[in-house]
Order: sequence, then structure tokens, then C-alpha cells
Amino acid sequence: KLAAALAARTIVLINLFLLRYDIELLGQLNRQNPTHSADFKPIQAINPSDLSVNEPVPQSHILVVEDESDIQQLISYNLVKAGYRVSFADTGEEALAFLEQQSCNCILLDLMLPGAGGLEICRSIKDKPHLSAIPIIMLTAKGEEHDIILGLEAGADDYITKPFSPKILLARIHS
Ligand code: CA
Repeated sequence: KLAAALAARTIVLINLFLLRYDIELLGQLNRQNPTHSADFKPIQAINPSDLSVNEPVPQSHILVVEDESDIQQLISYNLVKAGYRVSFADTGEEALAFLEQQSCNCILLDLMLPGAGGLEICRSIKDKPHLSAIPIIMLTAKGEEHDIILGLEAGADDYITKPFSPKILLARIHS
């Protein structure tokens, strides 16, 4: 029992010694570099490009122009989960009307739409000075290289081929 008590006391003493040594080291560090503990930078505006895919700009508003409800739901689910505000238009005409009423940060535009097609709508948006700065991501069918080229020529900023993974969708929107 005595041996155990002595051993325990020794451990306590060693710990106390180490603790004191740590405190002294910290003190020395502070003396050598007095600014290090107060090295805070003033708060700066958050640059959206510094945020990761999982941290979108709070409540960025995305307009999704897509007539297929399955794809609408898939996109909506993933964007809302990632913190975006999402609005839908079933047709290009609806999208143009929407954009005259509300602002948005990005447009996901399906190429194949009833009525005016995605290319025509893309050109219409990019022709309007008050809308042309909004980035447009075209949704195109996989392997349709021709469609991709036409979309980019019509002024689209990027494209996603269907079917797409949610991660790709978020990465493209984010960039
Ligand atoms: Ca479609």
C-alpha cells in the first residue's frame, strides 16, 4: 500500500512539474512573440469562391427551367438540402416572365423544353443587359456534343449532361 501511495504521489509530482514547465514555455513564447496571441485579422467579407461545395452562399437563389417533374424533384431535393433557394419554371417563357419579376443567382436551363427551346431562351436571357450577368448552366443529354457546343455558343456559361450526379450538379452551380 505504501509503495502504491508513493508511486501515485510521484506521478502527481511529475505531472505538476510538467504542467509548470508547459506554463513557463508558454510564457517564454509570449515574451518572444508578444503579438502571436493577439494575431486576429479583422472580419472580412466572405468570398463565395472560398466556400466549399457543402457551404453555399446562404440562400443563393437558383432558377431551374425543366419540364420533367422527376428531374425537377431530383434537382430540388439536392439544392434545398445544400441550402439553396430554388424556383422552377416548366417552360422558357415562364422563366423569362419570372426573371422580369425576381432576381436569381444562377439558372439551370434544360435544352429540351416545350415551346421555345433552351437555346433560344439562353440567347434571349443573354441578350438582355439586365439579365446577361446571371450564369446559365445548360442541361443536355449525355453524349450530345453538338448540343453542348450550341449551348455554349448561345452564351451558356457551363453545361451538365443528364443523367448527372448530385455532387457534379452542386460543384457546377457552386463554381
Ligand atoms: Ca426537358
